[in-house]
Amino acid sequence: MSRTLSFLLTALLILFPVITGAEAVPPESVSGWICLVCGSSGEADLCPVCSSVRGKWFCQECHTDNMTEICRGCGQARDASLRIQSTDTNRLNAWPAVRYLAMSNDPDALLALAEYYENGLVVQRDRTYALALYEKAASTRYGPALMKLGNIYDEGVLVPRDYFRSMEYYQLAADQGIPEAWWYLGTYYEEGSTVNRNYETARQYYRKAAELGDADSWMSLASLSAGGKGMERDFTQALEYYEKAAEAGSHLAMDYLGYLYMAGEMVEKNEAKGLAYYHRAADAGNARAMFALGVAYQYGQGTEANLTEAARWYEKAALAGRADAALALHALNQ
Ligand SMILES: [Zn+2]
Ligand SMILES: [Zn+2]
Repeated sequence: MSRTLSFLLTALLILFPVITGAEAVPPESVSGWICLVCGSSGEADLCPVCSSVRGKWFCQECHTDNMTEICRGCGQARDASLRIQSTDTNRLNAWPAVRYLAMSNDPDALLALAEYYENGLVVQRDRTYALALYEKAASTRYGPALMKLGNIYDEGVLVPRDYFRSMEYYQLAADQGIPEAWWYLGTYYEEGSTVNRNYETARQYYRKAAELGDADSWMSLASLSAGGKGMERDFTQALEYYEKAAEAGSHLAMDYLGYLYMAGEMVEKNEAKGLAYYHRAADAGNARAMFALGVAYQYGQGTEANLTEAARWYEKAALAGRADAALALHALNQ
């Protein structure tokens, strides 16, 4: 759990002691109405938890309280405002809107609501109910929900692992044009444990995913070429694919290219070029590349050694979650 989130939940317990207990009841069994201010369910005219009047909502656009379906401040429709609110990264802010929209079977809201129950955010954890919500969201062939169920069976969370079922869901999601679904199917054919290994099918599926915009799938194509899977090893082609992945925005590819040029693997060693790729990857948020830049600046690889720059990159990498960078920074400062 993130620090922010745990602070929020602490605040929630203090401010709304009733919610965590009351909301263990799944919304479908709720009669009456959902308070758009705190997300509780009410039967009387006032919300039993926050005492707001029934139907009161807060416009996300102009920050006005409203009672009618159109905002009196800016003219935004209530449901449009709730849709914005439901994607708020602050789970507590998003909760009333998520709950309300899920009641009308909005698939995104059902997915979001399922996450609350899966992780026990705001509500008591209820994994059976979370699964039911994911299935409900998927019942209309909604791509992201089908993907989610594929991942649930693939990883064995909420349910025992079942690769046949995950494949079925990935296939359904792929049919809905979800690029990552093609990638997952490709990995099944590459690994060959659930289905017979078939590198040609894997290649076709990765290609489909890549062409639908999944940048990382170019990496998988590259690794088939570099590994000589179902073909002769072809580093030239692999390198082309890595570059395509990087161009399509894959920071994993930028980082990997940085490594290849630094190490002189598959390509002629070129530290300056390696450093440039690491910079691109780091700018795109890749923590491993940030750490690698720290190393490059500390030891002068592809650049003059510069301990100030090294410390700066180690710090960035550490803040992005790399424990080894925190150690390196500490050692550098000794
Ligand atoms: Zn309320
Ligand atoms: Zn407004």
